[in-house]
Amino acid sequence: MKRPPIVIVGASLAGGTAAVTLREDGFDGDIVLVGAEAQPPYNRPPLSKGYLRGQDRFEDQLVRPASYYAEQRIGLELGVRATKIDAGQKLVELEGGRRVAYDRLLVATGGRNRTLSVPGANLAGVFQLRTVEDCDRIRAAVARGRRAVVMGFGFIGSEVSASLRQLGIEVVAIEGARVPLARIVGDEVGQVLADIHRDKGVELITEDSVAALEGSGRVERVRTTKNRVFECDFVVAGIGIVPNTELVAAAGARVDNGVLVDERCGTSLPDVLAAGDVTNHLHPIFGRLRVEHWNNGYQQGRAAARSLLGGTQPYDYVHTFWSDQYEHVIEYVGFATSWDRIVFRGRPGSRKFLGFYLKDGIVRAAVGLDRGGDPEDAKGDSELKAAVDMVRARAAIDPAKLADESVDLRALAGARV
Ligand SMILES: Cc1cc2nc3c(=O)[nH]c(=O)nc-3n(C[C@H](O)[C@H](O)[C@H](O)COP(=O)(O)OP(=O)(O)OC[C@H]3O[C@@H](n4cnc5c(N)ncnc54)[C@H](O)[C@@H]3O)c2cc1C
Repeated sequence: MKRPPIVIVGASLAGGTAAVTLREDGFDGDIVLVGAEAQPPYNRPPLSKGYLRGQDRFEDQLVRPASYYAEQRIGLELGVRATKIDAGQKLVELEGGRRVAYDRLLVATGGRNRTLSVPGANLAGVFQLRTVEDCDRIRAAVARGRRAVVMGFGFIGSEVSASLRQLGIEVVAIEGARVPLARIVGDEVGQVLADIHRDKGVELITEDSVAALEGSGRVERVRTTKNRVFECDFVVAGIGIVPNTELVAAAGARVDNGVLVDERCGTSLPDVLAAGDVTNHLHPIFGRLRVEHWNNGYQQGRAAARSLLGGTQPYDYVHTFWSDQYEHVIEYVGFATSWDRIVFRGRPGSRKFLGFYLKDGIVRAAVGLDRGGDPEDAKGDSELKAAVDMVRARAAIDPAKLADESVDLRALAGARV
């Protein structure tokens, strides 16, 4: 009897990449990819960058060309939400009641925008950004408007601010923290990024938050907790995402800030794996973590496919992410939520530097602003690739040598104090 398919719920980066990897690694059985969005899997990073600015075409952002799935006998169920998983019967129920049996199941349901709960959140002209339709709505507002308020200055808020400035829109950005992005990159780097935005004309308001969005039918102004008022034509809120865990949690999987998966992407349910933004994964170096990075969606999608095929290799990718803002490129490697010190190679004020986040003498993470190369570059000889090696080695590195331009980082990555 024919085995049921491998079913993948969530047809975006992690799910799409897993389907591609199954075929590339020689899996010949049936694959069904179920996605709530109407489009085949696509990449989201351009939605706050080139696509938002009208420079990149949507067709070029697809994980694989639309024709690939039929060619590879991957069944695509698009514009359809999976509503239930029966882990005992090994069935997935789709909107409309149809049931699909699975042999193994991959959950790659990602995240959705956190609900905006301030008064006026439902006014026309108030946007959040996750999907290509969200982005198209913002593009339409850009075509009509002149002044924007950006709520939240995390990576999405700062990238959207940069793109809007590049399109000639006046931008007021409102951020609760004293220094934007400091939780991730620290005060000094966060301050450099804030200065770049201010130099580009963003009116960046910190230590304040949006109390209300006001207007008759359409947003006309934003009132803050400190009672500042900003007139605007539209608002973009970048206030973070929540992982889409409800489906798998209702099936009985363990969930805690994401669906809990082990080092092989396995959930607590038999034959149910998970990958991408939705996972809180056990990592051999970092312990438990949930990240929202493109590189993780891609790498964990691949790793999950290999686990689905019986592979036993733990998923131990040293996390990396990037952000593009104006002409600047930020690259980050590793994972650090706290550190005792940051060692710089190059002055932060020069806006071209590396920063190393150390705890107990060990490099936990590093950031490069317009420096350090691409840690994912196949040649693998960049400064940030050396930083990846340091993070992986978990060895103490002499801070003075980290800061010393005359010391080769690649040699240092192999050395121990
Ligand atoms: C505007 C923007 C810019 C970004 N820029 C960067 C960047 O510069 N660098 C970087 O590292 N990362 C960036 N990211 C993050 C990156 O895009 C995500 O980490 C990545 O998309 C995660 O992929 P995923 O497949 O895990 O989840 P998602 O992309 O969230 O996809 C999950 C999919 O599952 C679907 N789904 C959910 N529930 C169901 C269900 N019940 N049934 C069927 N389908 C379902 C959803 O509709 C969605 O299509 C950016 C994200 C955004 C939104």
